Amino acid sequence: MNFAYSEEQELFRKTVRQWVDDKMPKDYANELEQREHEYPHELWDLFTEAGFHGVGVDEKYGGQGGDIVTQMILMREIARSLAGLAWVWGISSFSGAKSVGMFGSEEQKHRFLPQLANGEIKFAIAYTEPDGGTDLLGAMKTKAVKDGDGWRISGQKIWCTAAHVSDYLMLIARTDDNPERPSLGTTVFLVPTKDQEGIETRQIPKIGMRAVGSCEVFLDNVWCPDENVLGDVGRGFHQSLATLNNERIMLSALCCGIIDGAMETAVEYIQQREAFGKTLGQFQSIQHFVADMKIMQMEAELITFNAAWRQQQGLDCGIESNAAKVVASENAGKVADLAMQMHGGMGYAYETNPQRYWRDARLYRIGPIANEMARNSIAEMMGLPRSF
Ligand SMILES: Cc1cc2nc3c(=O)[nH]c(=O)nc-3n(C[C@H](O)[C@H](O)[C@H](O)COP(=O)(O)OP(=O)(O)OC[C@H]3O[C@@H](n4cnc5c(N)ncnc54)[C@H](O)[C@@H]3O)c2cc1C
Repeated sequence: MNFAYSEEQELFRKTVRQWVDDKMPKDYANELEQREHEYPHELWDLFTEAGFHGVGVDEKYGGQGGDIVTQMILMREIARSLAGLAWVWGISSFSGAKSVGMFGSEEQKHRFLPQLANGEIKFAIAYTEPDGGTDLLGAMKTKAVKDGDGWRISGQKIWCTAAHVSDYLMLIARTDDNPERPSLGTTVFLVPTKDQEGIETRQIPKIGMRAVGSCEVFLDNVWCPDENVLGDVGRGFHQSLATLNNERIMLSALCCGIIDGAMETAVEYIQQREAFGKTLGQFQSIQHFVADMKIMQMEAELITFNAAWRQQQGLDCGIESNAAKVVASENAGKVADLAMQMHGGMGYAYETNPQRYWRDARLYRIGPIANEMARNSIAEMMGLPRSF
Protein backbone atom coordinates (compact mmCIF):
# COMPACT_ATOMS: atom_id res chain seq x y z
CA MET A 1 0.00 0.00 0.00
CA ASN A 2 1.56 3.27 -1.06
CA PHE A 3 -0.25 6.58 -0.63
CA ALA A 4 2.66 8.72 -1.83
CA TYR A 5 1.90 11.07 -4.71
CA SER A 6 3.57 10.31 -8.01
CA GLU A 7 6.03 12.94 -9.25
CA GLU A 8 3.36 14.27 -11.58
CA GLN A 9 0.75 14.46 -8.81
CA GLU A 10 3.16 16.26 -6.47
CA LEU A 11 3.97 18.76 -9.20
CA PHE A 12 0.24 19.29 -9.78
CA ARG A 13 -0.31 19.81 -6.04
CA LYS A 14 2.45 22.40 -5.80
CA THR A 15 1.20 24.20 -8.89
CA VAL A 16 -2.36 24.35 -7.58
CA ARG A 17 -1.19 25.54 -4.14
CA GLN A 18 0.79 28.39 -5.68
CA TRP A 19 -2.12 29.29 -7.95
CA VAL A 20 -4.56 29.31 -5.01
CA ASP A 21 -2.25 31.52 -2.93
CA ASP A 22 -1.86 33.94 -5.84
CA LYS A 23 -5.42 34.04 -7.16
CA MET A 24 -7.75 33.10 -4.33
CA PRO A 25 -6.02 33.54 -0.96
CA LYS A 26 -7.92 33.06 2.29
CA ASP A 27 -8.78 36.74 2.80
CA TYR A 28 -10.25 36.93 -0.69
CA ALA A 29 -12.46 33.91 0.09
CA ASN A 30 -13.48 35.60 3.32
CA GLU A 31 -14.40 38.76 1.44
CA LEU A 32 -16.55 36.77 -1.01
CA GLU A 33 -18.38 35.24 1.96
CA GLN A 34 -19.25 38.68 3.33
CA ARG A 35 -21.02 39.49 0.05
CA GLU A 36 -23.95 37.39 1.12
CA HIS A 37 -26.13 35.86 -1.60
CA GLU A 38 -23.91 37.12 -4.41
CA TYR A 39 -22.66 34.21 -6.51
CA PRO A 40 -18.89 34.57 -7.04
CA HIS A 41 -18.78 34.44 -10.84
CA GLU A 42 -15.21 35.74 -10.70
CA LEU A 43 -14.17 32.60 -8.85
CA TRP A 44 -15.81 30.44 -11.52
CA ASP A 45 -13.92 32.45 -14.17
CA LEU A 46 -10.60 31.84 -12.42
CA PHE A 47 -11.20 28.08 -12.58
CA THR A 48 -12.11 28.46 -16.25
CA GLU A 49 -8.95 30.43 -17.08
CA ALA A 50 -6.79 27.82 -15.35
CA GLY A 51 -8.55 24.96 -17.15
CA PHE A 52 -9.48 23.35 -13.84
CA HIS A 53 -13.10 22.64 -14.76
CA GLY A 54 -11.71 19.90 -17.01
CA VAL A 55 -9.76 18.06 -14.29
CA GLY A 56 -11.19 14.55 -14.09
CA VAL A 57 -13.03 14.87 -17.41
CA ASP A 58 -11.80 12.41 -20.04
CA GLU A 59 -9.47 13.99 -22.62
CA LYS A 60 -11.58 12.41 -25.33
CA TYR A 61 -14.37 14.81 -24.32
CA GLY A 62 -12.27 17.93 -24.04
CA GLY A 63 -11.14 17.52 -20.43
CA GLN A 64 -7.72 17.37 -18.80
CA GLY A 65 -8.10 13.75 -17.74
CA GLY A 66 -6.94 12.75 -14.27
CA ASP A 67 -8.11 10.14 -11.79
CA ILE A 68 -9.83 10.50 -8.44
CA VAL A 69 -6.56 11.26 -6.64
CA THR A 70 -5.86 14.16 -9.02
CA GLN A 71 -9.37 15.50 -8.38
CA MET A 72 -8.85 15.05 -4.64
CA ILE A 73 -5.61 17.02 -4.78
CA LEU A 74 -7.42 19.87 -6.51
CA MET A 75 -10.37 19.75 -4.09
CA ARG A 76 -8.11 19.72 -1.03
CA GLU A 77 -5.88 22.54 -2.24
CA ILE A 78 -8.74 24.84 -3.18
CA ALA A 79 -10.64 24.07 0.05
CA ARG A 80 -7.51 24.98 2.05
CA SER A 81 -8.38 28.56 1.11
CA LEU A 82 -12.00 28.51 -0.08
CA ALA A 83 -13.45 25.97 2.40
CA GLY A 84 -17.07 25.34 1.26
CA LEU A 85 -16.76 27.73 -1.69
CA ALA A 86 -14.76 24.89 -3.28
CA TRP A 87 -18.19 23.69 -4.45
CA VAL A 88 -18.12 26.52 -7.01
CA TRP A 89 -15.75 24.11 -8.78
CA GLY A 90 -17.09 20.85 -7.37
CA ILE A 91 -20.77 20.84 -8.27
CA SER A 92 -20.34 21.10 -12.03
CA SER A 93 -16.86 19.76 -12.55
CA PHE A 94 -16.97 16.90 -10.09
CA SER A 95 -20.59 15.95 -9.29
CA GLY A 96 -22.09 16.87 -12.68
CA ALA A 97 -19.29 15.73 -14.97
CA LYS A 98 -18.83 12.49 -13.01
CA SER A 99 -22.47 11.50 -13.50
CA VAL A 100 -22.52 12.42 -17.18
CA GLY A 101 -19.26 10.49 -17.64
CA MET A 102 -20.70 7.43 -15.88
CA PHE A 103 -24.26 7.35 -17.19
CA GLY A 104 -24.41 9.61 -20.23
CA SER A 105 -24.87 8.28 -23.75
CA GLU A 106 -22.03 8.92 -26.20
CA GLU A 107 -24.06 11.79 -27.65
CA GLN A 108 -24.61 13.33 -24.19
CA LYS A 109 -20.93 13.03 -23.30
CA HIS A 110 -19.99 14.86 -26.51
CA ARG A 111 -22.66 17.48 -25.87
CA PHE A 112 -22.11 18.20 -22.16
CA LEU A 113 -18.57 17.26 -21.15
CA PRO A 114 -16.64 19.70 -23.37
CA GLN A 115 -18.89 22.54 -22.20
CA LEU A 116 -18.45 21.52 -18.56
CA ALA A 117 -14.69 21.17 -19.00
CA ASN A 118 -14.45 24.63 -20.59
CA GLY A 119 -16.55 26.28 -17.90
CA GLU A 120 -19.27 27.19 -20.41
CA ILE A 121 -22.13 25.62 -18.47
CA LYS A 122 -22.98 25.20 -14.81
CA PHE A 123 -24.89 22.35 -13.21
CA ALA A 124 -26.79 22.24 -9.93
CA ILE A 125 -27.84 19.05 -8.18
CA ALA A 126 -31.56 18.80 -7.37
CA TYR A 127 -32.00 15.60 -5.39
CA THR A 128 -33.13 16.64 -1.90
CA GLU A 129 -36.82 17.40 -1.28
CA PRO A 130 -38.45 19.34 1.56
CA ASP A 131 -39.78 16.13 3.19
CA GLY A 132 -36.27 14.71 3.60
CA GLY A 133 -32.85 14.20 2.11
CA THR A 134 -31.73 11.14 4.06
CA ASP A 135 -34.76 9.13 3.02
CA LEU A 136 -34.44 10.30 -0.56
CA LEU A 137 -36.80 7.72 -2.02
CA GLY A 138 -39.42 7.94 0.71
CA ALA A 139 -39.57 11.73 0.50
CA MET A 140 -39.60 12.07 -3.29
CA LYS A 141 -42.79 13.68 -4.56
CA THR A 142 -41.44 15.46 -7.65
CA LYS A 143 -42.94 13.76 -10.68
CA ALA A 144 -42.04 13.57 -14.34
CA VAL A 145 -44.77 12.61 -16.79
CA LYS A 146 -44.10 11.55 -20.37
CA ASP A 147 -45.27 14.13 -22.93
CA GLY A 148 -44.45 13.55 -26.62
CA ASP A 149 -40.70 13.57 -27.13
CA GLY A 150 -39.96 14.67 -23.60
CA TRP A 151 -41.18 14.95 -20.02
CA ARG A 152 -43.12 17.43 -17.90
CA ILE A 153 -41.75 17.82 -14.37
CA SER A 154 -43.59 19.26 -11.36
CA GLY A 155 -42.66 19.36 -7.70
CA GLN A 156 -40.29 21.00 -5.26
CA LYS A 157 -36.63 20.55 -4.41
CA ILE A 158 -34.63 22.09 -1.59
CA TRP A 159 -31.01 22.96 -0.87
CA CYS A 160 -29.99 22.96 -4.53
CA THR A 161 -26.65 24.70 -4.34
CA ALA A 162 -26.05 27.22 -7.16
CA ALA A 163 -29.44 26.44 -8.78
CA HIS A 164 -30.10 30.18 -9.24
CA VAL A 165 -27.12 30.50 -11.61
CA SER A 166 -27.14 27.04 -13.18
CA ASP A 167 -27.76 26.16 -16.83
CA TYR A 168 -28.95 22.64 -15.97
CA LEU A 169 -30.48 21.00 -12.95
CA MET A 170 -29.36 17.42 -12.53
CA LEU A 171 -32.67 16.40 -11.05
CA ILE A 172 -34.18 13.14 -9.85
CA ALA A 173 -37.93 12.64 -10.18
CA ARG A 174 -40.47 9.87 -9.84
CA THR A 175 -41.46 8.45 -13.21
CA ASP A 176 -43.48 5.46 -12.02
CA ASP A 177 -45.87 5.43 -9.06
CA ASN A 178 -46.13 1.66 -8.90
CA PRO A 179 -42.67 0.28 -9.61
CA GLU A 180 -41.87 -3.42 -9.36
CA ARG A 181 -39.51 -2.66 -6.46
CA PRO A 182 -39.39 0.49 -4.25
CA SER A 183 -35.88 1.34 -5.51
CA LEU A 184 -37.14 1.52 -9.11
CA GLY A 185 -39.39 4.14 -10.71
CA THR A 186 -37.15 7.21 -10.48
CA THR A 187 -35.18 8.87 -13.28
CA VAL A 188 -32.43 11.48 -13.54
CA PHE A 189 -32.95 14.44 -15.88
CA LEU A 190 -30.64 17.20 -17.05
CA VAL A 191 -33.25 19.93 -16.98
CA PRO A 192 -32.33 23.06 -18.97
CA THR A 193 -33.05 26.13 -16.85
CA LYS A 194 -32.37 28.98 -19.27
CA ASP A 195 -35.47 30.50 -20.86
CA GLN A 196 -37.58 27.82 -19.18
CA GLU A 197 -41.07 28.58 -18.00
CA GLY A 198 -42.16 27.10 -14.69
CA ILE A 199 -38.90 27.14 -12.67
CA GLU A 200 -38.49 29.43 -9.69
CA THR A 201 -35.61 29.53 -7.23
CA ARG A 202 -35.37 31.09 -3.79
CA GLN A 203 -32.12 31.25 -1.86
CA ILE A 204 -32.15 30.00 1.72
CA PRO A 205 -30.19 32.26 4.10
CA LYS A 206 -27.61 30.01 5.76
CA ILE A 207 -24.66 30.09 8.13
CA GLY A 208 -21.86 28.96 5.84
CA MET A 209 -20.78 28.84 2.17
CA ARG A 210 -23.15 31.75 1.76
CA ALA A 211 -21.72 33.22 -1.42
CA VAL A 212 -22.42 30.08 -3.37
CA GLY A 213 -26.15 30.15 -2.54
CA SER A 214 -28.40 27.14 -1.90
CA CYS A 215 -31.97 27.27 -3.14
CA GLU A 216 -35.47 25.99 -2.91
CA VAL A 217 -36.55 25.15 -6.45
CA PHE A 218 -40.21 25.14 -7.50
CA LEU A 219 -41.06 23.28 -10.71
CA ASP A 220 -44.39 23.67 -12.45
CA ASN A 221 -44.81 21.60 -15.62
CA VAL A 222 -41.18 22.12 -16.60
CA TRP A 223 -40.08 20.69 -19.93
CA CYS A 224 -37.19 18.28 -20.35
CA PRO A 225 -36.54 16.65 -23.73
CA ASP A 226 -35.89 12.90 -24.05
CA GLU A 227 -32.30 13.52 -25.08
CA ASN A 228 -31.65 14.96 -21.60
CA VAL A 229 -32.66 11.84 -19.68
CA LEU A 230 -29.44 10.71 -17.97
CA GLY A 231 -29.06 6.94 -17.83
CA ASP A 232 -32.00 4.56 -17.74
CA VAL A 233 -35.60 5.53 -17.12
CA GLY A 234 -36.61 4.02 -13.78
CA ARG A 235 -33.08 3.50 -12.43
CA GLY A 236 -32.26 6.98 -11.15
CA PHE A 237 -31.90 5.88 -7.53
CA HIS A 238 -29.50 3.06 -8.45
CA GLN A 239 -27.42 5.56 -10.43
CA SER A 240 -27.21 7.88 -7.44
CA LEU A 241 -25.94 4.99 -5.29
CA ALA A 242 -23.19 4.25 -7.80
CA THR A 243 -21.58 7.68 -7.28
CA LEU A 244 -21.78 7.71 -3.49
CA ASN A 245 -18.30 6.39 -2.69
CA ASN A 246 -16.75 8.94 -5.00
CA GLU A 247 -18.75 11.74 -3.48
CA ARG A 248 -17.75 10.73 0.05
CA ILE A 249 -14.07 10.53 -0.85
CA MET A 250 -14.19 13.98 -2.46
CA LEU A 251 -16.03 15.44 0.52
CA SER A 252 -13.32 13.99 2.76
CA ALA A 253 -10.67 15.67 0.59
CA LEU A 254 -12.53 18.97 0.99
CA CYS A 255 -12.51 18.48 4.78
CA CYS A 256 -8.76 17.75 4.68
CA GLY A 257 -8.39 21.12 2.92
CA ILE A 258 -10.37 22.85 5.68
CA ILE A 259 -8.08 21.22 8.26
CA ASP A 260 -4.96 22.36 6.36
CA GLY A 261 -6.23 25.94 6.05
CA ALA A 262 -7.51 26.30 9.61
CA MET A 263 -4.37 24.76 11.11
CA GLU A 264 -1.90 26.88 9.18
CA THR A 265 -3.89 30.05 9.92
CA ALA A 266 -3.80 29.27 13.65
CA VAL A 267 -0.12 28.29 13.69
CA GLU A 268 0.82 31.57 11.97
CA TYR A 269 -1.26 33.56 14.45
CA ILE A 270 0.17 32.03 17.62
CA GLN A 271 3.70 32.77 16.49
CA GLN A 272 2.94 36.49 16.32
CA ARG A 273 0.39 37.18 19.03
CA GLU A 274 1.86 37.85 22.45
CA ALA A 275 0.62 37.44 26.01
CA PHE A 276 2.59 37.63 29.26
CA GLY A 277 5.66 38.70 27.31
CA LYS A 278 5.73 35.56 25.17
CA THR A 279 4.20 34.50 21.91
CA LEU A 280 1.13 32.28 22.34
CA GLY A 281 3.02 29.49 20.63
CA GLN A 282 5.33 29.25 23.64
CA PHE A 283 2.51 28.11 25.95
CA GLN A 284 2.25 24.38 26.45
CA SER A 285 -1.55 24.19 26.25
CA ILE A 286 -1.48 26.05 22.93
CA GLN A 287 1.20 23.68 21.65
CA HIS A 288 -1.05 20.78 22.62
CA PHE A 289 -3.81 22.33 20.50
CA VAL A 290 -1.37 22.36 17.58
CA ALA A 291 -0.36 18.75 18.20
CA ASP A 292 -4.05 17.71 18.34
CA MET A 293 -4.68 19.53 15.06
CA LYS A 294 -1.77 17.73 13.44
CA ILE A 295 -2.99 14.34 14.71
CA MET A 296 -6.49 15.05 13.37
CA GLN A 297 -5.03 16.15 10.04
CA MET A 298 -3.06 12.89 9.77
CA GLU A 299 -6.08 10.79 10.72
CA ALA A 300 -8.27 12.50 8.13
CA GLU A 301 -5.61 12.30 5.45
CA LEU A 302 -4.79 8.62 6.00
CA ILE A 303 -8.37 7.43 6.13
CA THR A 304 -9.26 9.48 3.02
CA PHE A 305 -6.27 8.25 1.02
CA ASN A 306 -6.94 4.68 2.07
CA ALA A 307 -10.48 4.90 0.66
CA ALA A 308 -9.25 6.53 -2.56
CA TRP A 309 -6.44 3.98 -2.93
CA ARG A 310 -8.90 1.10 -2.55
CA GLN A 311 -11.20 2.62 -5.09
CA GLN A 312 -8.35 3.04 -7.55
CA GLN A 313 -7.35 -0.59 -7.08
CA GLY A 314 -10.93 -1.63 -7.86
CA LEU A 315 -11.35 -2.92 -4.28
CA ASP A 316 -14.53 -2.54 -2.30
CA CYS A 317 -14.41 0.82 -0.50
CA GLY A 318 -17.93 1.21 0.92
CA ILE A 319 -16.92 1.07 4.59
CA GLU A 320 -13.73 3.02 3.94
CA SER A 321 -15.37 5.92 2.08
CA ASN A 322 -18.12 6.27 4.70
CA ALA A 323 -15.53 6.10 7.49
CA ALA A 324 -13.41 8.73 5.72
CA LYS A 325 -16.42 11.03 5.42
CA VAL A 326 -17.22 10.71 9.13
CA VAL A 327 -13.65 11.17 10.39
CA ALA A 328 -12.69 13.97 8.01
CA SER A 329 -15.87 16.01 8.59
CA GLU A 330 -15.73 15.63 12.38
CA ASN A 331 -12.00 16.43 12.51
CA ALA A 332 -12.48 19.47 10.26
CA GLY A 333 -15.03 20.87 12.71
CA LYS A 334 -12.76 20.21 15.71
CA VAL A 335 -9.68 21.72 14.06
CA ALA A 336 -11.60 24.84 12.98
CA ASP A 337 -12.95 25.17 16.51
CA LEU A 338 -9.44 25.00 17.98
CA ALA A 339 -8.28 27.58 15.43
CA MET A 340 -10.98 29.95 16.69
CA GLN A 341 -9.97 29.30 20.30
CA MET A 342 -6.34 30.10 19.50
CA HIS A 343 -7.42 33.40 17.94
CA GLY A 344 -9.24 34.43 21.13
CA GLY A 345 -11.77 37.22 20.58
CA MET A 346 -10.61 37.75 17.02
CA GLY A 347 -11.59 34.16 16.30
CA TYR A 348 -15.17 35.34 16.70
CA ALA A 349 -14.77 38.19 14.20
CA TYR A 350 -15.88 37.87 10.60
CA GLU A 351 -12.65 39.50 9.50
CA THR A 352 -10.52 36.49 10.46
CA ASN A 353 -10.70 33.14 8.70
CA PRO A 354 -11.20 30.46 11.40
CA GLN A 355 -14.93 31.25 11.78
CA ARG A 356 -15.40 30.62 8.04
CA TYR A 357 -13.77 27.19 8.25
CA TRP A 358 -15.85 26.45 11.34
CA ARG A 359 -19.17 27.48 9.74
CA ASP A 360 -18.46 25.55 6.56
CA ALA A 361 -17.14 22.43 8.31
CA ARG A 362 -20.38 22.20 10.31
CA LEU A 363 -22.31 21.41 7.15
CA TYR A 364 -20.29 18.34 6.30
CA ARG A 365 -21.55 16.38 9.30
CA ILE A 366 -25.04 16.90 7.78
CA GLY A 367 -24.58 16.76 4.03
CA PRO A 368 -24.28 15.49 1.38
CA ILE A 369 -25.16 12.65 3.74
CA ALA A 370 -25.51 12.91 7.50
CA ASN A 371 -22.87 11.14 9.59
CA GLU A 372 -25.61 9.13 11.33
CA MET A 373 -26.52 7.64 7.97
CA ALA A 374 -22.86 7.02 7.10
CA ARG A 375 -22.55 5.14 10.40
CA ASN A 376 -25.75 3.19 9.59
CA SER A 377 -24.19 2.15 6.30
CA ILE A 378 -20.95 1.03 7.96
CA ALA A 379 -22.85 -1.08 10.50
CA GLU A 380 -24.96 -2.61 7.76
CA MET A 381 -21.89 -3.43 5.66
CA MET A 382 -20.47 -5.16 8.75
CA GLY A 383 -23.43 -7.53 8.60
CA LEU A 384 -25.79 -5.93 11.11
CA PRO A 385 -29.48 -5.65 10.22
CA ARG A 386 -30.56 -2.47 8.45
CA SER A 387 -31.80 -0.15 11.20
CA PHE A 388 -34.09 2.01 9.06
C1 LIG B 1 -25.89 24.09 2.64
C2 LIG B 1 -26.47 22.85 2.04
C3 LIG B 1 -26.21 22.56 0.71
C4 LIG B 1 -26.81 21.44 0.12
N1 LIG B 1 -26.63 21.23 -1.23
C5 LIG B 1 -27.40 20.28 -1.83
C6 LIG B 1 -27.42 20.17 -3.26
O1 LIG B 1 -26.72 20.89 -3.97
N2 LIG B 1 -28.26 19.28 -3.83
C7 LIG B 1 -29.06 18.46 -3.08
O2 LIG B 1 -29.80 17.67 -3.65
N3 LIG B 1 -29.04 18.51 -1.73
C8 LIG B 1 -28.24 19.40 -1.10
N4 LIG B 1 -28.25 19.51 0.28
C9 LIG B 1 -29.13 18.63 1.05
C10 LIG B 1 -28.39 17.63 1.94
O3 LIG B 1 -27.91 16.59 1.13
C11 LIG B 1 -29.40 17.16 3.01
O4 LIG B 1 -29.58 18.26 3.89
C12 LIG B 1 -28.94 15.94 3.74
O5 LIG B 1 -29.01 14.81 2.89
C13 LIG B 1 -29.83 15.66 4.97
O6 LIG B 1 -31.20 15.64 4.62
P1 LIG B 1 -32.25 16.52 5.43
O7 LIG B 1 -31.73 17.89 5.55
O8 LIG B 1 -33.58 16.36 4.80
O9 LIG B 1 -32.28 15.90 6.88
P2 LIG B 1 -33.21 14.68 7.37
O10 LIG B 1 -33.19 13.61 6.35
O11 LIG B 1 -34.52 15.22 7.78
O12 LIG B 1 -32.42 14.20 8.66
C14 LIG B 1 -32.46 14.93 9.89
C15 LIG B 1 -31.63 14.22 10.93
O13 LIG B 1 -32.16 12.91 11.14
C16 LIG B 1 -31.13 11.94 11.01
N5 LIG B 1 -31.66 10.72 10.42
C17 LIG B 1 -32.48 10.57 9.36
N6 LIG B 1 -32.68 9.26 9.10
C18 LIG B 1 -31.95 8.58 9.99
C19 LIG B 1 -31.71 7.20 10.26
N7 LIG B 1 -32.25 6.24 9.50
N8 LIG B 1 -30.90 6.84 11.27
C20 LIG B 1 -30.31 7.79 12.04
N9 LIG B 1 -30.49 9.11 11.85
C21 LIG B 1 -31.28 9.50 10.85
C22 LIG B 1 -30.11 12.57 10.08
O14 LIG B 1 -28.85 12.02 10.28
C23 LIG B 1 -30.17 14.03 10.52
O15 LIG B 1 -29.33 14.21 11.63
C24 LIG B 1 -27.62 20.58 0.90
C25 LIG B 1 -27.84 20.87 2.26
C26 LIG B 1 -27.29 22.00 2.82
C27 LIG B 1 -27.62 22.31 4.27
